[in-house]
Amino acid sequence: MLSDRYFTSLCLFKVQTVRQILSSVTVRPKSECMQFLSTRKFDIPTHVYLRNAGKTDTNLAARSNRCEHFECFELGSFLLTSSTSSPWKCPVCDCLINGESCLYIDQLFTETSLEAQQKTAFGAQ
Ligand SMILES: [Zn+2]
Repeated sequence: MLSDRYFTSLCLFKVQTVRQILSSVTVRPKSECMQFLSTRKFDIPTHVYLRNAGKTDTNLAARSNRCEHFECFELGSFLLTSSTSSPWKCPVCDCLINGESCLYIDQLFTETSLEAQQKTAFGAQ
């Protein structure tokens, strides 16, 4: 008869590249992003903030489903720097992010940023 109790567990991890994770993140359409911003009633005029946000090098602007803030973070950089840390936390509000299914790409910020980068590249203001 065994006097000790033993416990065995098996954990399977799926190793994904940043590219694989990026391809699985949901893109939230501009209309839904505008709805998100309008329901939060930010006191800074949206068009001014978007113009300034577009001046960053944000290629894929993202938030988590739990975020309530205006700002986005750059998804590619986030995944590269967070790949070895656990749990993931939002770099803006510090909320927990339970995997890529809790992230979304903000199409409004992403397109605004790309337009600003293109204008800068061609010398327009
Ligand atoms: Zn957040």
